Amino acid sequence: MPRILVDFDRCEGHGLCEQTAPEVFRLDDEGVLHLTGDEVAPSEESAVSAAVRVCPVAALKVQL
Ligand code: SF4
Repeated sequence: MPRILVDFDRCEGHGLCEQTAPEVFRLDDEGVLHLTGDEVAPSEESAVSAAVRVCPVAALKVQL
């Protein structure tokens, strides 16, 4: 399955990924991003692709 790669040095905790795919991305109370899992389930692919596009600092990638 595809995997989500996060560049945590770039991530600024904007949370747009969480808004776009809340079942995959979570920000904690301190604005630190967590993934519910590294792999992208088929049912989550379109939401994760949208999250990759909306991240304002291009911190997300999907590795096929
Ligand atoms: S949208 Fe980008 S910068 Fe914002 S929390 Fe998600 S990965 Fe980090």
